[in-house]
Amino acid sequence: QRNDDRESMMVVTSWANQYFVEQLKTQEGQSVGVGYFRERGFTDATIAKFQLGYCPTKGDAMTQTALAEGYREQFLVGTGLTIKREAQNGGGYYDRFCGRVMFPVHSLSGRVIAFGGRTLRTDKKVAKYLNSPESEIYHKSNTLYGIYFAKKAITQFNRCILVEGYTDVLQMHQSGVENVVASSGTSLTVEQIKLIKRFTKNVTVIYDGDAAGIKASMRGIDMILREGLTVRCVLLPDGEDPDSFAKSHNATELQAYIEEHEEDFISFKTRILLGDAAEDPIKRAEVITSVVESIATIPEAITRSVFIRECAQKLEIDEDILIREVAKKRVTMV
Ligand code: ATP
Ligand code: MN
Ligand code: MN
Ligand code: MN
Repeated sequence: QRNDDRESMMVVTSWANQYFVEQLKTQEGQSVGVGYFRERGFTDATIAKFQLGYCPTKGDAMTQTALAEGYREQFLVGTGLTIKREAQNGGGYYDRFCGRVMFPVHSLSGRVIAFGGRTLRTDKKVAKYLNSPESEIYHKSNTLYGIYFAKKAITQFNRCILVEGYTDVLQMHQSGVENVVASSGTSLTVEQIKLIKRFTKNVTVIYDGDAAGIKASMRGIDMILREGLTVRCVLLPDGEDPDSFAKSHNATELQAYIEEHEEDFISFKTRILLGDAAEDPIKRAEVITSVVESIATIPEAITRSVFIRECAQKLEIDEDILIREVAKKRVTMV
């Protein structure tokens, strides 16, 4: 029964995806939906490849069409596409994503399992993105947006680029960088890292160039290291995200920027945490402590020792002290 439900939920989701894609062709879809994607700089090819769509403004248009075509309420509600109004509130249904542009989320094998919907409103009264709720077919903690479209390039380049959002993935693809995925809507999870690990052991984190992005990078670094993967980071100019950066630069410039600014976690942490306070001993000690914490999470002893040496050289501290401190940290870790 359970597995049958799963399959039915997949069928409804796939139907809804086609519906949202079709809606882009209507008058409203053209002016509002396609208009929005154009404004964001997405080409027809990108819209088609990622099956971007539009959910009409009319509150229950999608649900009514689905019901008329014989899809059952149980699965529409179960996938979160439809929200049922309480009887005391007048009953009826409304579409979770009404009036939003749609980003379908594909599973590893290319089936649509969920959606992200972005509002077109610029006020802060509604959530910018709404995502499908957790269900039997969608576990957001082990899903990566874009993995289906990125897996080939990840394998070929033996590297996965990790970004924050839907539009970052799309814009980078459009610039010719296809080994990109996003954790979209959750902070990075261990399951997501394990999913990447099936394709490569090398991750490049390119989060937004703001305080939140830097904080998320710091957290991501240790999680990635802990799974035995290598990690590099790219810090974007303040206020930029991969989407805005890719949009204002051509493909060559984007790739050059990544190559030139990619750095290992020791350089990244040092540059960000130390800034221009290189001569401040208190700051230096803080940076070293933070780097030691990262090194201690690395499961492989040889890799740890390589980074201990690098840290000793870069931050001018005795290697034996670092070895001891890393060992101490590892004891308290388990
Ligand atoms: P845009 O460029 O469309 O304004 P973004 O992708 O740059 O959006 P961020 O604010 O940087 O948006 O957030 C990164 C990602 O986090 C989004 O792509 C989305 O997946 C998720 N997200 C952002 N805001 C919300 C929200 N209010 N609810 C749920 N998920 C969100
Ligand atoms: Mn952000
Ligand atoms: Mn962003
Ligand atoms: Mn953005």
